[in-house]
Amino acid sequence: MSAASDGLPPLREVIDRHGLAPKKSLGQNFLLDLNLTGRIARQALPLDACTVVEVGPGPGGLTRALLAEGARKVVAIEKDERCLAALEEIAAHYPGRLDIQKADALSVDLAALAEGKPIKIVANLPYNVGTQLLLNWLTSETWPPLWESLTLMFQKEVAQRIVAAPGSDHYGRLGVLAGWRARSQILFDVSPSAFTPPPKVTSSIVQLRPNPEPEPADLKALERVTAAAFGQRRKMLRQSLKSLGGEALLTKAGIEPTRRAETLSVGEFVRIANTL
Ligand code: SAM
Repeated sequence: MSAASDGLPPLREVIDRHGLAPKKSLGQNFLLDLNLTGRIARQALPLDACTVVEVGPGPGGLTRALLAEGARKVVAIEKDERCLAALEEIAAHYPGRLDIQKADALSVDLAALAEGKPIKIVANLPYNVGTQLLLNWLTSETWPPLWESLTLMFQKEVAQRIVAAPGSDHYGRLGVLAGWRARSQILFDVSPSAFTPPPKVTSSIVQLRPNPEPEPADLKALERVTAAAFGQRRKMLRQSLKSLGGEALLTKAGIEPTRRAETLSVGEFVRIANTL
C-alpha cells in the first residue's frame, strides 16, 4: 500500500482542519506529495525489523509513508504542539505502530526509544537544527551507534559538505567527521517547489550508514585539528595548525607541513589527531 492510498485525508485538508500554517521559526517546510514521501521512505527499507525514528513529523506526510511502507514502529518526535492532534489521527489508523512524542529532538536520548531493536532515522529535518542533530548522531560515545541508517533531507549545500571527499571545495569539518564514522551518499535532490512553503534552495536526501570500525581516534582531538585546519583552509598546515604544534606535530605525524587542509584524507586527519 502507498501513503497516497492509505485512506487518510489529503494533507492539505489536514493542515487546514488543524490550523497548521507553517512557522518559519520551527523550520516548517512541509512535503504534501505522498508519492515523494513514499519515495523517501522506500530508501530506508526494510522497515519491519527496526524502530524508525522520525524527527519533526509535522502534519505527517513522511510518517504516513513510513507506515504505509511497512514500518513496524515509528517514534515521531515533534516540538510543535499544534501538530499533535493531526498525528493522533494517523496513530489511530495504524494501531500500536505510531508513538508520538512531544519533545525537542536535540534533547532526546535514542537509547530510550530503541526497544532493543536497531534504529533507522528518517526525517525531513528542520533546517535550523539539522546539522546539530547529525553531529549528535555522528559523535555518539558508543560505536557502532544505536542507529543503523540515517535517511535525511538537508539543504543541498549541507548534503554536499557531508559527502565531500578530499580535494572538493565542500570538504571540511563535517566531511571529515562523516567520512571517519560513516559511509554517506546523496540519493536524490528535491526541488524547492516540492515544499510548502518553498525554501530558497534545493534540498537533497542523504543516507548515512555507520562505518563499523572507524580508525580509533580521540573525537575532541580530531575536532580541534579539523577546526584549526579548516579555519584557515587556504593556508599551509604548518601555519593553520601552529597553535597545536605546527611543523613539529605534522612531521611527527608524517604529514608534509606545506600541505593544505583540503588535500588531507580522513585517515591523515586521524593520524594528526592521534599524534596530538
Ligand atoms: N516531516 C514533515 C514533512 O516532511 O512535511 C515536516 C518537516 S519540517 C521541514 C520540520 C519539522 O520539524 C516541523 O514539523 C517542525 O515543527 C519540527 N521541529 C522543528 N524543530 C524541532 C525540534 N527541535 N525537535 C523536534 N521537532 C522539531
